[in-house]
Amino acid sequence: MSATYHPGVGDSATARAADRRRARIAAATGAHRNGSFWLDGDTPPRPPLTGQVTADIAIVGAGYTGLWTALALTEHDPGLRVVVLEATRVGHGASGRNGGFVEASLTHGLHNGLAHFPDEIGELLRLGAENFAGLVDDIRRHGIDCDLELTGTIDVATAPWQLDELAASAEVHAGVGERATLLDADEVRAELDSPTYLGGLAHPDGAIVHPGRLARGLAGALDDRGVAIHEGAPVSRLRRHGARVRLEAPGGAVVADRAVLATNAYSHLLLRRTARQFVPVYDYVLLTEPLTPEQRARIGWANRQGIADSGNQFHYYRLTGDDRILWGGYDAVYRFGNGIGPRFDHRRATYDLLARHFRATFPQLRDLRFARWWGGPIATTTRFTATFGEALGGRVVYGLGYTGLGVAATRFAGRVLRDRLLVPDSPLLDLRLVTAAPFPFPPEPLRWTGVELTRRAIARSDRRAGARGPWLRLLDRFGVGFDS
Ligand SMILES: Cc1cc2nc3c(=O)[nH]c(=O)nc-3n(C[C@H](O)[C@H](O)[C@H](O)COP(=O)(O)OP(=O)(O)OC[C@H]3O[C@@H](n4cnc5c(N)ncnc54)[C@H](O)[C@@H]3O)c2cc1C
Repeated sequence: MSATYHPGVGDSATARAADRRRARIAAATGAHRNGSFWLDGDTPPRPPLTGQVTADIAIVGAGYTGLWTALALTEHDPGLRVVVLEATRVGHGASGRNGGFVEASLTHGLHNGLAHFPDEIGELLRLGAENFAGLVDDIRRHGIDCDLELTGTIDVATAPWQLDELAASAEVHAGVGERATLLDADEVRAELDSPTYLGGLAHPDGAIVHPGRLARGLAGALDDRGVAIHEGAPVSRLRRHGARVRLEAPGGAVVADRAVLATNAYSHLLLRRTARQFVPVYDYVLLTEPLTPEQRARIGWANRQGIADSGNQFHYYRLTGDDRILWGGYDAVYRFGNGIGPRFDHRRATYDLLARHFRATFPQLRDLRFARWWGGPIATTTRFTATFGEALGGRVVYGLGYTGLGVAATRFAGRVLRDRLLVPDSPLLDLRLVTAAPFPFPPEPLRWTGVELTRRAIARSDRRAGARGPWLRLLDRFGVGFDS
């Protein structure tokens, strides 16, 4: 025993550390009312965790990752006892605040997939298409009323250099047998009219959903399967419990054979080792009042596609079921030390910038007002695709880091996590996407400095017709970056 050992000191230090961790988690996941339109309409809160509960599998986090994982687990074995512990409310994180674009890509787009996983891109495209079809099927089979619309998407060019990029992109898509059609300015403007459009690339295979109703609908499907979902149950500690794992939350604990950490941008608060695997980045959106039929007539948009413009810093926008325009993106804001929590849910400077960009894109909608605005945390890895891992000797598994394309990719992650727990010989577990870890972010203060340098270099590249300066070229060489 060490000469500096004093009875009790270790314990109280541990207790103090646990208190600090609890406080950090409570602060980061607090305040349900983050302003998201998608979370409107109160649903009765689900019961918090009380007493000690046993389960086969416990899941931390009721965003899409946690919910899709629970669905995949109970599909595989309907008798499994699965408990989901959510700090706040179902869909409180990015899952209840996102743009609702559903894309088949598991790799943050085709170009990213080709750059990082050239040898398995064919398999990843096949799995992505299968996952997209499975998502549509799940929504229909479980009767989830989430305004699913199979609209496709259009990438629009708003600067001449982007036309060349879209033409090159069309060829890359054709090269792997994916459907994508180049549109000239008149053709894009016939779909959706903005004087800023110079051309576009239409992707017929994509959808939009109401993200909040998707999250709540998935939770409803889990209720029907007997999965216990507890809200107001922030897990403050995961620890070994013999061969099992114990999850502690205020008022209770779960002892389970295995646990799934489905906390995405919040993961470092509970499992420190994830801190260098991703950065939480805040992304913000504006939402207009519903357009009148006359306002709709000024812009067209009869086919209601999801739209993204093609700069390095890009906007994404779409119609809601009641014909509002959701307009988001462009800024991706990182806070020092993986900062996350309600104090970052709003950012006035970004809202003003987004509003100016909206007015420039649709000058014919000057009389349209913004009704809502909010932000949410995205977890991005240096390669922009998810990463998977485990802790506590394999008792805990996790998947995180979908960057800005998590609506469908989380469903795929749910299957990977299920297989890690129950199907060890699954071919999904051999994919490099699953086994290879992304290059880690450096520790602070280098991380913040690197992200800031990258943000500035990206903005400069957009101002200089897409030319990638020395910093971006260096990152490209190492296959790393920063995105929302
Ligand atoms: C503004 C915005 C726009 C986006 N747009 C799109 C889009 O159009 N298309 C697309 O595909 N993707 C989009 N994304 C990304 C997508 O929303 C995410 O990738 C996806 O929702 C991640 O789901 P998740 O379940 O992993 O994380 P989250 O939804 O963040 O869920 C994590 C959950 O864990 C809970 N939690 C955290 N810590 C604890 C704890 N200790 N104990 C218990 N619970 C805890 C949180 O409260 C939260 O509910 C967007 C994201 C944002 C923020």
